[in-house]
Amino acid sequence: MLLRLAPTPSGFLHAGNRHNFALTAELARELGAPLALRIDDADAARYRREYAEDIFRTLRAMDIEWQIGPADVEDFEEHWSQRRRTDHYRAELIAAQDHGLLTYACSCSRTQQRGAASGGCSGGCRDRDLTWEPGVTAVRVVVPVGMTVHVGEREVRLDEAMGDFIVWRRDDLPAYQLVSVVEDRDLRTTHIVRGIDLLESTAAQIFLAASVDAPNVAEATYVHHELITDEWGGKLSKSTTSAKITPDDGTEEA
Ligand SMILES: [Zn+2]
Repeated sequence: MLLRLAPTPSGFLHAGNRHNFALTAELARELGAPLALRIDDADAARYRREYAEDIFRTLRAMDIEWQIGPADVEDFEEHWSQRRRTDHYRAELIAAQDHGLLTYACSCSRTQQRGAASGGCSGGCRDRDLTWEPGVTAVRVVVPVGMTVHVGEREVRLDEAMGDFIVWRRDDLPAYQLVSVVEDRDLRTTHIVRGIDLLESTAAQIFLAASVDAPNVAEATYVHHELITDEWGGKLSKSTTSAKITPDDGTEEA
């Protein structure tokens, strides 16, 4: 068994992140399972060292210990940064294509991507037979119309929820979905605790798991928890301006 904390260093952590850390650490304790720290910086274009420092500071303030992963920010940047593994993820994508993962290159802009509908990207790239040109085109997977993925008791219509989602970005970086599956496979993660807002991502990752040879990702136990919201009921997002750390408050928010 193994659980992991997987924060993204793209801003200072908020109460929702601490809530997730607390629930994950608690489940690991209950199961007697080791905990890994995995800092997801593969596509963190906004990475700043303070954000990574904030992760370590928060975990220490919450008294959460992990058995696998970087000890501190220097160790992270030198030995654990996913930015050093871009070629590894690229090789994994090419291997997945060889194993039958259907993909196509997409030249649509970010704005066009946002409106992508079931059956392909909004620009119709599925039928254009473009070449994957690093820095010019993204790579999308073909999600067949009607594709339903089971996540525990829930069913997700992946074609409606995600469409043909991106596995390799236009700026020549791996997309989160691919990175997460490869990392969870390599870590041998068995239990994944994340916010309910990531349910559709979970479905996308289970879909990818078959081609990336990651049966543990397809068979993992998923816990999707409710989100902590701000006082107006809105979703919290990372702050890029200030760190607001109150020791121990993360353990009181469940
Ligand atoms: Zn396109």
